[in-house]
Amino acid sequence: MYVDSHVHLQPHGEQPPITLERIRRYVEAASANGIAQIALTEHLFRFREAYELLHGWWDADSADPALSAIAHAYWKDHVSVDVADYVRVVEEAKSAGLPVLLGIEMDWLSGRADDLRRFLAPYDWDIVLGSVHWIGAWQIDTPDGANWAEWVQRSIDEVHAEYGVLLRELAASKLSDVLAHPDLPKIHGHRPTSFTPLHEAIVEAAADGGCAVELNSNGYNAPVAEAYPALPVIERARAAGLSITFASDAHRPERVGERFDDLAALAARAGYREYASFEARRPTLHSLVAAARTDPVSR
Ligand SMILES: [Zn+2]
Ligand SMILES: [Zn+2]
Repeated sequence: MYVDSHVHLQPHGEQPPITLERIRRYVEAASANGIAQIALTEHLFRFREAYELLHGWWDADSADPALSAIAHAYWKDHVSVDVADYVRVVEEAKSAGLPVLLGIEMDWLSGRADDLRRFLAPYDWDIVLGSVHWIGAWQIDTPDGANWAEWVQRSIDEVHAEYGVLLRELAASKLSDVLAHPDLPKIHGHRPTSFTPLHEAIVEAAADGGCAVELNSNGYNAPVAEAYPALPVIERARAAGLSITFASDAHRPERVGERFDDLAALAARAGYREYASFEARRPTLHSLVAAARTDPVSR
């Protein structure tokens, strides 16, 4: 049985109420998929307080007002819940004995570390994921309209270099426990001249910031069709002595724990024998062999 350290309760474009009943559906699906525990890690931009506190971050990079407008609209459209209500429901679920952890997927917004710290401070998080989805006001993982046009206009090498800089800032802020989907720029299949500089940046950032590196199976569903991050990153992380977590990045119950045996096999190929989960911001290590349904070491 595994721990899934990255799960969302609301699909993009939908806002089903976050209730104990909904959490129960995830827990049932998790258990059917061989998952013993799930960290609920709703997006920062789901929370009304984050929208109010961070409002305008999309204007900081004024290079393209069209991108700023899209980022603003995206945040506005995704607001669905007060963070205090989210925390209360997840804590109720924990009290009811459901195997869930209180988490959040925090977007790194360059220059807004103090506000992010203020936002996180009042709550007893089990796990804070740190994610870079935006370079300036450009959302790199959404392939529509002006966001897609940027991939045509920009240098792919520069995109990867900028992403590495943002990951280093994120890790140095010490606000997050885990670097989520750290080689996300590969999502649509774009290839820089060399992946090595970003791979080095990921591992150096995680080592300097004391972060774990997330293995995320949602990459299998993206055009790139491979897990985040690529095997060379996992090998470098292993050599650097970093912990890894397992993540489905599910936005629906049925995807919880998807392809975790494949993640375990990747981890084993890189030399790992254990993976981590977080509770009260502290890591616990679990045996890969004990978790997997098929022996990850011999695959
Ligand atoms: Zn993400
Ligand atoms: Zn996510």
